[in-house]
Amino acid sequence: PARRLEVFTESVIREMTRLSNRHGSINLAQGFPDFDPPAELIEALAVAIRGPHHQYAVTWGAPRFRQALARKHSQYTGLDLDADRHLVVTCGSTEAMMVAMMTACDPGDKVIVFSPFYENYAADAILSGAIPVHITLHAPNFEFDRTELRQAFADGAKAIVICNPSNPCGKVFTREELLFIAGLAEEFDAFVLMDEVYEHIVYAPHQHTYFATLPGMWERTLSCGSLSKTYSITGWRLGHVIAPENLISRAKKVHDFLTVGAAAPLQEAAVTALDFPASYYEELQRDYDAKRDVFLGYMRQTGLSFSEPQGAYYTLLDISPLGFATDTEAAAWMTQEVGVTGVPGSSFYREPEHRFIRFHFAKKEETLRAAGEKLVEGL
Ligand code: GLN
Repeated sequence: PARRLEVFTESVIREMTRLSNRHGSINLAQGFPDFDPPAELIEALAVAIRGPHHQYAVTWGAPRFRQALARKHSQYTGLDLDADRHLVVTCGSTEAMMVAMMTACDPGDKVIVFSPFYENYAADAILSGAIPVHITLHAPNFEFDRTELRQAFADGAKAIVICNPSNPCGKVFTREELLFIAGLAEEFDAFVLMDEVYEHIVYAPHQHTYFATLPGMWERTLSCGSLSKTYSITGWRLGHVIAPENLISRAKKVHDFLTVGAAAPLQEAAVTALDFPASYYEELQRDYDAKRDVFLGYMRQTGLSFSEPQGAYYTLLDISPLGFATDTEAAAWMTQEVGVTGVPGSSFYREPEHRFIRFHFAKKEETLRAAGEKLVEGL
C-alpha cells in the first residue's frame, strides 16, 4: 500500500463519534446538529425528490443552484460573482478544500497550515503530495508570530490554509491580521485557501471578513464553504469553491475527476435555503449565541479553563489539572465514565499538545444541559 497513508491516521473526530455510539454517551465530538434544518427546506427536498432530478446534475453544479449561490454569496461579500465562471459546487467543503489544495499545489510544494488546525488540511496536503508547514496559533488568544509566518512564506510556501472562523479554536481573524497575511501572499506570490464554512456563526463584537474581498486578494484566493453549518444540513454534502475564472477552470477539472458532482435532488432543494431572507441568518446567530452561553456556563462551573469562541461552535477545554497522561485517555474516560464525548485536542495539533478536549455546542439546549450537568458533576 501507498506510503503516504502511513503519515496520517483516520479522522479522530469521526472515530470519536463511533466510540460515542458504542457507549451511548452524549456526542459533542463531531460537529453536527441534533436538531432539524428549517421545515421549508425539508419540504423543498420532498418536492425535489418527486421531481425529475434523479440523474447527474451538471458537473460544476446544477445551474439553478449555482445561480442561487452566486446571488447569495455576492450579496454577503459584495463581490460580483458569475455562476458560470466563478464557482464550482462540490460534495461538502471537505471536497472543496481538497479541490483547492490540488488546484494550487503541485507535489513537493509547501503549504502553510496553522496549528491547531481542522484535521483534514494536513491529510489534504499529504494526499496531494504537498508538504504542510505548521505555524502555531498560541493559546489562549491563538495569535501567530508574524516573523515566523513571514519566514514560512519566504521559505517558498506555495499557499496558506486559513480556517476563519476557526475550527477548533474559535478564533475570528481580525481584519488587520488578514491584511498582514494578504501582504505576505502578495509579496511572495502565494495562494490563499480559505475555509469559511462558519461564515454565519460569529459572536459579537467579532466580525467576519471575507478574505477574497481584501485589496488584491480576489486574484489569489480560493474560498471554500458549504451549506452544512449555515442551514444545519451536514448530511447533504453541498459545498463550493469560489475563485476567479483562471482558477475555477482548473478547479473544475479536479472536481470532475474526484466526484463528478454533488447530489442532484439536494442541489435542487437547497435553492430554497439560499433564497432565505437576511432574518434567517440573524436568527441562526441568536440561536448560536444562546447555545454558546448555555454551554460555556457549564464549562465555567467545571472550574477548568477553556477557549472562548469568537466564531464557529467549538471550545477547547484544558484538562491538564485532571492528571491524565494523554488527552486520548481523558477522552475515553469521559466517554465511559462521565457520559460525554469530545475530541482529543492532539488531533488538531502538530505539536505534542495533550492539554485539550474539543467540545462542540451545535446541539439542542436540552442536550447541552444534559451534557453540561454530567461534565460539572464528573470532572
Ligand atoms: N467540521 C466538523 C468537525 O470538526 C465535522 C467534521 C466532519 O466529520 N466532516 O467536527
